Order: sequence, then structure tokens, then C-alpha cells
Amino acid sequence: MDKRVLKQEMLKILQPEQVLADDLDLMYYSYDSSFLTKLERVYPDIVVLPRATEQVQRIVRFAYENNIPVTPRGAGTGETGGAVAFNGGIVIDLSTWDEIVEVDVSNMQVVVRPGVIHADLNNHLAKFNLFFPPDPGSSLMCTIGGMVANNASGLRAVKYGCTEQYVLGLEVVLPNGEVITTGGIRSKAIKNVSGLNLTKLMVGSEGVLGIITKIRLRCWPKPKARGIAMAVFSKLDDAPATVLEVYQAGILPSGIEILDKSAIKAVNQFKPEIGLPEDAEAILLFEVDGNAPSVEWEGTNIVEIAKRRATKVEWATDPQRMASLWEGRSVTATAAARVRPDGSRVFAGEDISVPLSRVAEALRAIRSLGEKYGIPVVNYGHIGDGNVHTAPVIDPENPAEAEKANQLVHEIHLLAIELEGSTTGEHGVGAVRRQYAELEHGEALKVMRLIKNAVDPKGIMNPGKLI
Ligand SMILES: Cc1cc2nc3c(=O)[nH]c(=O)nc-3n(C[C@H](O)[C@H](O)[C@H](O)COP(=O)(O)OP(=O)(O)OC[C@H]3O[C@@H](n4cnc5c(N)ncnc54)[C@H](O)[C@@H]3O)c2cc1C
Repeated sequence: MDKRVLKQEMLKILQPEQVLADDLDLMYYSYDSSFLTKLERVYPDIVVLPRATEQVQRIVRFAYENNIPVTPRGAGTGETGGAVAFNGGIVIDLSTWDEIVEVDVSNMQVVVRPGVIHADLNNHLAKFNLFFPPDPGSSLMCTIGGMVANNASGLRAVKYGCTEQYVLGLEVVLPNGEVITTGGIRSKAIKNVSGLNLTKLMVGSEGVLGIITKIRLRCWPKPKARGIAMAVFSKLDDAPATVLEVYQAGILPSGIEILDKSAIKAVNQFKPEIGLPEDAEAILLFEVDGNAPSVEWEGTNIVEIAKRRATKVEWATDPQRMASLWEGRSVTATAAARVRPDGSRVFAGEDISVPLSRVAEALRAIRSLGEKYGIPVVNYGHIGDGNVHTAPVIDPENPAEAEKANQLVHEIHLLAIELEGSTTGEHGVGAVRRQYAELEHGEALKVMRLIKNAVDPKGIMNPGKLI
């Protein structure tokens, strides 16, 4: 459709400030945080910023009738090109629709519109002594709609799980413009096994099945106490072995993070005053939370277990000491980006997930792949659930290096599948990992495509993503 006509049609639904069609504005929507969109820039035809279900419904219905692709978008912090309109058409930016509709304290629930920022939601819930536990590193930027669409999680997933565990119901505008409520039209029930579970189907569907316009979340009471244990290992295999023993002792920490020697080196190079032990093969950080006596008991036992293999162990509950033990982990992503003065970290192959028993094997293999391609790779991540973050550092402006990086991350993705894991533990598939869908899902991919075709027969909703 002619872009001027498209703009006129959108202005029949929205106010002028809710419609963006200038090249400069559209450029902003040509990328997210993925490496792919750094290499390839594709502009949408138009961007709209609705703030009511009826507006979304009218936009989608118009797109459906005119066969125009629609791409939902939150804050654009995704790492997979998921919110980028590779087929052109309309980008529906939901980030300005950021209303917290209701905090239902007596049922420990909250209802939000999709554009609410994760950190803002938790700041608000803290007033009621509640929190929404999934905790992505992008908390200050990402939207709850984007988190639901990507089934996001973070370093506390080991205890608290992913977004899907907290979504009780959704309002969704389907690709034909119809609006449905999942989880029961009036239901606030925590336990609900009535009907096919469309809420679970929508969570993690990356915008290919519809636009999420309202979200009911379950919240949890905020833990009263916290403690951090740090353990240093001279052998890589001792780290996962220690994690397993902690679990076997009946302890479920709220976070278990690993820095391998590449990350230790990167952190020390970036901030020498942190002074992590350079000769270590791995450092583990355990976070435990709950009430003060249980935190103390768990911490003491983690220390006892870790001492069997670690060269150094420290436990802290003092807020300042906890912050300094955690500092190495909190600067790792930034430190990774600085390992080469002329390079930068690319988000590609950054999020594989493998069984705990194969984490050490994965880290060693990634190290060898980095050497094979001559690319520094910094490894760290959520060892508690086998979610390894890899940070290749290249000069992305150099086409030969970019090509080598693409080959490297392809091998990392295949490695994850080979090690009985997944190409993505939390960041999603989008456009960048779609090529592995058949290898990962086999015949089940056909069923996924049947569902997609039934819900979106014209294929207008976020085409080219996920399946
Ligand atoms: C520094 C950094 C750290 C990160 N750390 C983590 C982490 O620890 N854990 C983690 O899981 N992720 C992490 N991410 C990835 C990303 O932040 C999350 O996936 C986040 O949930 C995306 O939210 P968003 O609002 O930016 O969504 P976007 O990037 O805008 O969109 C993501 C996907 O959701 C779809 N979508 C967005 N809104 C809707 C909607 N309302 N209805 C339907 N579909 C929609 C889009 O089409 C797209 O496919 C990180 C990213 C960065 C840049």
C-alpha cells in the first residue's frame, strides 16, 4: 500500500503524535539489540503507538483486510530481531501504553498494560511488599509485554522460574482483529485447569499469534533476607559438581552464576580494583534469599559444600560486602565488550542452554571454537539452570570478522543441540535462530505451524520469526 495512504488510514484511528512515518523515526525501528540488525537495516513503512485495545484492534483489522505485515514491539531490547519489520508494514510500538491498571493486594496479583517497564513495576509492587520475580538484565528498559512475548527470565530463574509461571491471563488482539481473554474471562484463580491453556500458548509466542494488550500477573511476597557466597575453583569441572552437591543437600539458591577464566580476565582488565584471582578456572556466586535463619542455614551449608573443592570461599550478608562480592558478575557484560579496544561485543549465539552435567563441556568447546575462529569469547552465565552467556568480541564494521563471527555462533548453536540443550535459554528465537527450529523440534514444528496458520491464516503477524 502507498505509504501516504497508509498514514492517512492510521490517522483515522490515532492522534498525529501516535503515528511515525519520517525516515529518521523509522530508522530507530530498524534495529533491536541483535547482531543481525546491526548488519542489516530494514525500515517499517509506518510506526503506530496505540494506547487502547480498540485502537490496536482497528489497526490490526485494517492490516488483516489489506494483507499488511504487523510487527509488535516493546522496548526493542530483544536480541533476535523479533521486533524488527523485515517484511516492512506496520510496527505497533506498545511501549507508551504503560499503565498499571490494578494491584490486587488481597490476591497478590497485578494487572498491567504491555508497555510497563519491568523495574517500574517492581518499584511499584514494593510499596505493597510484593514483587514479580523474573529479573532480566534489561529490567530498566524492557516492557512486561516484551517479557511475556519472549517468556523472559534472568539470573533468579533457578529458584523463581520464567515469566510463564506468573501469567494468569492475557488480553490478546488476534491477527484478524478479534479480541480474546485467556485464562478465563473473569478468572483470578491461581489454579485453573479449565480449557486448553491458551495463556501458555501465547507466552513465548514472540508476537506471531497476536498482540498482547493486557496482562494479569501473579506476584510473590518480597523475601526479607539475602546472602551471597563466592567460591573460587582451580578446576572448571569442580564448579558444576559443587552446584549439584548444593542441590542434593536440599538447597535451592535464588541465583547461581559462573564466571569462567575468560570472564575473570575480562573483569580484571576492565576494573583491576575488583581483583578476581587470575589463576582461577571458574568462580561461582550463590545468592540465597528468604528469612534470616533460613538464609544463614543455607549459606553455612553452601560454604561447607564448596570448601570440598574450592580454593577460596566467602559468605556475606552485610549489604556492602555482598555488593562487592557480586561486583565482578555485575560488570561482566560491560567488561566483555572492552576486551578488545577496537572491538565490541555482539549479541549472537549468546544464550545457549545445556544440562548442568554438560556445562563444563560446553564452556571448553566454546573456548576452542573461539580459538578456531580467532575471536575472543567471554563466557559467564546462569550455571544453576545451564544457561550460558557467550560474548564474542569483534569489529562489527569489518565484513570478514562479521562473517567469521556468524560461522562461530552457528557452531555454538549446533553445539547446544548436540549437548542435549537448546539454542536459547531466555532471549528467544526471533529471526536469528529460526533456522534451527526443525533440528530442535522435529515433527513438532509441523504442529506449531498448523497452530500459526489456524490463528493467522494470512501470515500477517510478525512474519519471518520463531517458526
Ligand atoms: C542488556 C540486556 C540484557 C538482557 N538480559 C536479559 C535477561 O537476563 N533475560 C532475558 O530473558 N532477556 C534479556 N534480554 C533480552 C530482552 O531484554 C528480553 O527478551 C525482553 O523481555 C524484551 O522486552 P522488550 O520490551 O524490549 O521487547 P522487544 O524487544 O520490543 O520485543 C521482543 C519480542 O516480543 C514481541 N512483543 C513485544 N511486545 C509485544 C506485545 N505486546 N504483544 C505481542 N508481542 C510482543 C516482539 O514482536 C518481539 O518478537 C536482555 C537484553 C539486553 C539488551
